[in-house]
Amino acid sequence: MKTPAILLAMLMMSNLAFAGNYPLTTCVVSGEKLGEMGPPIVINYKGTEVRFCCDGCPKKFYKDPEKYLAKLKTAPSSH
Ligand SMILES: [Zn+2]
Repeated sequence: MKTPAILLAMLMMSNLAFAGNYPLTTCVVSGEKLGEMGPPIVINYKGTEVRFCCDGCPKKFYKDPEKYLAKLKTAPSSH
């Protein structure tokens, strides 16, 4: 069975995303501090790691992912 190259690329990207340090200390959906309501929920959206304060937030994220991803991208890379 042949694995499409695009799938391999996605896997590699997701590994890199999870290995890197996350630019935000807060949930992109609610703005709550990550970890304050228990372990953060981590998802991988198109190779980008996104963390949430609770399991209700990914549902909101998926309704308007680009809006929340913009917050992630404008976050300062160092602090
Ligand atoms: Zn939340």
